Amino acid sequence: MIVLFLGGAVLWGSWAFSWGRGEPERNDSGHVMDHPQVKPVAGWESMDRDLTPVERSEEEWREMLSSEAFKVLRQEGTESPYSSPLDGETRDGVYHCAGCDLPLFHSDHKYDSGTGWPSFYAAIHPSHLGDKLDRSFGMRRVEVHCARCGGHLGHVFRDGPEPTGLRYCINGAALTFRPTEEEG
Ligand SMILES: [Zn+2]
Repeated sequence: MIVLFLGGAVLWGSWAFSWGRGEPERNDSGHVMDHPQVKPVAGWESMDRDLTPVERSEEEWREMLSSEAFKVLRQEGTESPYSSPLDGETRDGVYHCAGCDLPLFHSDHKYDSGTGWPSFYAAIHPSHLGDKLDRSFGMRRVEVHCARCGGHLGHVFRDGPEPTGLRYCINGAALTFRPTEEEG
């Protein structure tokens, strides 16, 4: 029994260990978990990489965002599954933060997870995402948000496809999609 318990504890890993107590450990990138860059997306180097924090008052956010985007981005709400047209979006293009326009995800990394939320197995660049531990609703999850404006995007889970094994479960209301043909 003890061997089984220890084995399970090792498998569960140090990542989960930090959930239980005190401040979560963060890696060198300042993340609570690794967000791998799977491959350079063509053109991402030329995108807006200015990560200077974007700060607005609650009133300003309320004015500039749709009520659904405000609920998700600024109040950590969750849209109803299958409610976002971006769930079924299959065109080539880039998904930007609806709050500050930072490029966050690329269609190359999008897949149909069957959950009803737009799902990706990688971010367009790890530095564009922030994360934190989220223990709401009695669950242990990793929340992801825009690194520039702090807007809540969704959560990341470890049941995604190769090559990362990650599933970024993102609220479509937090995103603005720009098809490739409209870029530049
Ligand atoms: Zn943002």
